[in-house]
Amino acid sequence: MNKIKQNVLKAYNTSNITKKEIVEILESDNLEDVEFLLQKANQKKQEFFENKVFVRAIIEFSSYCRCHCSYCGLNANNGKLKRYRMNEEEILETVKEINGTEIGTVVLQSGEDLWYDEKKLVNIIKRIKSESNLKITLSIGERPFTEYKAFKEAGADRFLLKHEIANEKLYNEYHPHSSFKARIDCIKSLKKLGYETGSGFMVGIYGDSFENMADNILLLKELNVDMAGIGTYINSVNTKLEGKPNGNSMLTLKCVAITRLLLNKCHLPSTTSLNILGGLNEALSGGADVVMLKATPFKYINDYKIYNNNYIEDIGIKGRLKILKEKLNLLNLVIA
Ligand code: SAM
Repeated sequence: MNKIKQNVLKAYNTSNITKKEIVEILESDNLEDVEFLLQKANQKKQEFFENKVFVRAIIEFSSYCRCHCSYCGLNANNGKLKRYRMNEEEILETVKEINGTEIGTVVLQSGEDLWYDEKKLVNIIKRIKSESNLKITLSIGERPFTEYKAFKEAGADRFLLKHEIANEKLYNEYHPHSSFKARIDCIKSLKKLGYETGSGFMVGIYGDSFENMADNILLLKELNVDMAGIGTYINSVNTKLEGKPNGNSMLTLKCVAITRLLLNKCHLPSTTSLNILGGLNEALSGGADVVMLKATPFKYINDYKIYNNNYIEDIGIKGRLKILKEKLNLLNLVIA
């Protein structure tokens, strides 16, 4: 057995490998090695979640953002983006549509939009809890500890705040409005408050390296997160990194698979960026156990332009769920 397969087996058996061993796995583009990795990750996923897939519905409720992330189309400097905000009634109407399906979780995501202050968000969370059976995941960026606490007390169950890039220097360069330290402190606060906490990172952003990818994975392990969104970097117009190449989806799949081997019970979505690049089936056969479906109303859905994606059709959450079920069927997977 070659060194790469030995590393994969060690990760499978012990959930513990070194940075150097992770880098060796990432560097190998030998197809047999990659297939072995994905197969072992799938086996580990099956041990914990069998053939189940967890589906989350995401409402992208605001495209306003105060941040200046160098890679993101929502960045505050992008004057070309059509901005929108959903009001409480629109959010609750959308929640109602999700509540009538098999989906058990709504993810409320937005740019960092302080127009939704503590009071507004607490109200929305409480209403979702009283008017539906859904779990709530928040993905709204950095807020003070007191607000995270108020959202938790109002009924929010989970929080997704990706660390994005484990390299502190690169992180600080790409996020001039904040710092790596502040981001990690927020993630730790969320864990302390009892949220099911998610982090994650982008693969292949300009300046990324195999070493950095390994650091990203090891940071997830150190933070002991409950969920991790690992997405491929996709180029976005009207950003500082406009024109830089997309990340590689095969490398993203490998990062997901290694993460499954190191953080066995962690929920790992086949992220939207990976799905756009055609990696849904491979991710769900290589360690991922979660799919996120857009529930954002059609009149807004194409304005939430984080990156250059294709036009999204007017088929609603039920239409998207139907298509997903057909795909899952072919993979012998079922909705949890
Ligand atoms: N504001 C919230 C936050 O900071 O967590 C959530 C919204 S943010 C737009 C959601 C995610 O989009 C980020 O965590 C980042 O990983 C991803 N993202 C932004 N620009 C991207 C790009 N060009 N390619 C891939 N992912 C990107």
